[in-house]
Amino acid sequence: MKLARNIIIALAAGVVVGLVLNLFAPGVFGKADVFLFQPLGTIFLNLMKMLVIPVVFISIALGTVGLGDPKKLGRIGIKTIAYFLTTTAIAIVLALSLALIFKPGAAGDFGTHDATYEPAEAPPISDTLLGIIPTNPIQAMAEGNMLQIIFFAALVGFGLAMLGKKTEKVTELLEQGNELVMFLITFVMKFAPYGAFGLIASAIGSQGYDALKAMGLYMAVVLGALLIHSVVTYGGTVAFLAKRNPVWFFKNFIPPQVVAFSTASSAATLPLSMKTAQEKLKVPESISSFVQSLGATINMDGTAIMQGVAVAFIAQAYGIDLTTGQLITVVLTAVLASIGTAAVPGAGLIMLAMVLTSVGLPVEGIALVLGVDRLLDMVRTSVNITGDAACAMMIAQSEGVLGDPQSEEAALPEKSR
Ligand code: ASP
Repeated sequence: MKLARNIIIALAAGVVVGLVLNLFAPGVFGKADVFLFQPLGTIFLNLMKMLVIPVVFISIALGTVGLGDPKKLGRIGIKTIAYFLTTTAIAIVLALSLALIFKPGAAGDFGTHDATYEPAEAPPISDTLLGIIPTNPIQAMAEGNMLQIIFFAALVGFGLAMLGKKTEKVTELLEQGNELVMFLITFVMKFAPYGAFGLIASAIGSQGYDALKAMGLYMAVVLGALLIHSVVTYGGTVAFLAKRNPVWFFKNFIPPQVVAFSTASSAATLPLSMKTAQEKLKVPESISSFVQSLGATINMDGTAIMQGVAVAFIAQAYGIDLTTGQLITVVLTAVLASIGTAAVPGAGLIMLAMVLTSVGLPVEGIALVLGVDRLLDMVRTSVNITGDAACAMMIAQSEGVLGDPQSEEAALPEKSR
């Protein structure tokens, strides 16, 4: 909590510094950005990213040993994916509905004639899903291919569970490795306030006030949808499915949210969000590691919301009416796009090209939302990881292993229950 407070103070300071320099001393901002803000941000991002692969591998392998029974893993997998798909579809429907009601793209002239945007190559979704089996696990780790790492780690855990005593030294090594990475997360987080300051000062300062003003309604609709989705969908999940107080949930999950906000990367935030879910929300490690790593990779409701609003906005700005059939196509492709979105800053915008193409909207329209995307990215990344945590709690409750919120201990590992 103290850490979260320090990060929030640093963010506020970064906003003020970024805005003041942008408005009154753009030259100074340029230099400060290159020599101070960006380096601070990069150091922090890299420190966090450095821990992602070890944390995911160790905790999923260990988590699967804890589950023991492969049937259980299959059942949890199905429930998790069903939750992810349902909430993402809800997110897009909500986003489209708000955008159709408030019509942010009809609120002015957005200069659609001069819009140019070179779409980056989006990876085909089929590749993401079919490529889940790594031909070379070391390469998967070197490339940070999350789904492949999850697959390999789960298999290692399964093997360790089956072999039991024979491989207990390896299991023990992983347990000690887990202690070590958890310590390193806490250690690295000491740098978070400086990193957060640099990241936000850089983002705000390079934004430009005019761009923000023109896009005010678009931003308001995206932010409104993000807020409603968090409160209703995640609050509802926690209250009715996980049977815990949503206020307690949101309060305890603030630290990863502010880190997600500063880094705009679900992947970089993953170590902290898993640690928080285990220690504060009392989700057992076996469930938290599996649900949250998978979620950071394929469950991005915040991203889906941005894509839904952006599609409607671009259609409105170009004066194109979307038919019901097109709206349904948007829902389906945006669910897929958010699955395929990499958990790094700006990735959601690349996948937006795919959604636009699916309904024949001009891809250049992305240029219209590009200017303000970084700020929205920060907020939607916080929403993305909150959805994963809510899901982890719901799954833990449905398996009867969600820990007692009052207890000082992290949730017990499943095998000891
Ligand atoms: N930055 C987002 C994330 O990491 C992805 C995106 O929407 O661009 O969760």
